[in-house]
Amino acid sequence: MEEYGMNNNNYSDGHEMKQHFQRFAKQLSDWYCDGKTPGLASQDTRFTLELQKQKLQSLGLDMQIQFRKPDADNGSTGVLTYGDSVFENFIIGASKHITTKISNSQKEIFSSDAEGGLTIIMQNPKQGGVPSPETAMCCPNCGAPSTLGKLESGCEFCNTKFLMDELYPKVMHFFINEDIKDIFDTKQLKKYIVGFTIFFMAIGIVSMLSHSLTGELDSFESMINDAAAILGSIIPGAMFGAGAWFVVNSIRSLMLMGKNARGGSKMMRSLIFCNKMHTLDPTFSIEYFRDKSMSLLKLMLYSQDPQELTICQCNKRIPEKLREIVDITYFNSGVDKYSIRNGICDVSLTFYTDSLHYRGGKILRESDRIHISLRKIIKKPTDLGFSVMAVTCPSCSASFDAAKVKVCPFCGSTYPLEENEWVVTDICI
Ligand SMILES: [Zn+2]
Ligand SMILES: [Zn+2]
Repeated sequence: MEEYGMNNNNYSDGHEMKQHFQRFAKQLSDWYCDGKTPGLASQDTRFTLELQKQKLQSLGLDMQIQFRKPDADNGSTGVLTYGDSVFENFIIGASKHITTKISNSQKEIFSSDAEGGLTIIMQNPKQGGVPSPETAMCCPNCGAPSTLGKLESGCEFCNTKFLMDELYPKVMHFFINEDIKDIFDTKQLKKYIVGFTIFFMAIGIVSMLSHSLTGELDSFESMINDAAAILGSIIPGAMFGAGAWFVVNSIRSLMLMGKNARGGSKMMRSLIFCNKMHTLDPTFSIEYFRDKSMSLLKLMLYSQDPQELTICQCNKRIPEKLREIVDITYFNSGVDKYSIRNGICDVSLTFYTDSLHYRGGKILRESDRIHISLRKIIKKPTDLGFSVMAVTCPSCSASFDAAKVKVCPFCGSTYPLEENEWVVTDICI
């Protein structure tokens, strides 16, 4: 794959991309805490965030997520790229300390405070390359569907003029994940020791009481003995406490290792699928497909009514258990099966996620396995600049928002969404 490369500081954009990454992390915190629209987010990313906010509001929930400097800052920010003929996508990831709080009418019902990471996929035109003025794009100011050329000469709706570097780069996708590195939580060690010390003290006190009841506590000496046993509880307390802490954490680390390895067996099939697709569509890459499928999953989960989205072409009802989900953390995904027939590709995937479910007034964190089937007509190479929020009608070349309507509002012809975008044909859990 010639379009694909690694870069670590030797690329002139690398440093700049890392700065954008930090800015976006701040913008995302501001979005979740103050509702301020993240300026760097693409219109599709904003749409997904907006859907999630609407869903939370409809359930009477308020979710705040904050990204801070990680506890142990290893200072490394990874940058990886993939591109098509016009755009380059940068995958940028780094450690963050993440706090999540969910409240229901001012009452906190969930909180999590953990080390983790944020990964963003940021798009920029290729060096020396200029996207066509016909490139469909939403106005960053008013959100109206338009084209790059029109936005540069002034949005038809709000009159704002944009320079190329105000329109790019933009964040196409983002993932939040939680670390499983610091499994042996030393903060808990103290709790275990205190717990076991109290337990042994209680035994000492009970034995002292029983001794006094049976009249064995006759001498000053035996009283001293019992008192010493009570005070001495700290020693077996520390021993048993530390032992129990170690056992519990060892079991937890094994469970988490297993959890992180979920879906590993699908790696081969995913690679075969992506190679096959790459021969049919040179822009197609495993990174592109992971990011795209994850974004479609988010749209399906965060929408109050996924069936009103044009990307949703499911015949079955969306299962209730999926509709409870208000936030997801990505672990892994992989291809289960695929078929490419008559220029139509059907692919089924499994996502391994940790999701926050809102059920019976409570937020429950569950490890889920979500199956999703996608379909696309393979006619032309993937356009990385494609946005469902601003498409150009092939019949009358007008721009419109195809997120919820299939028919061009100007000429009435049906927009061929499946030629440009993957659609969801089935989802289950
Ligand atoms: Zn505008
Ligand atoms: Zn039209």
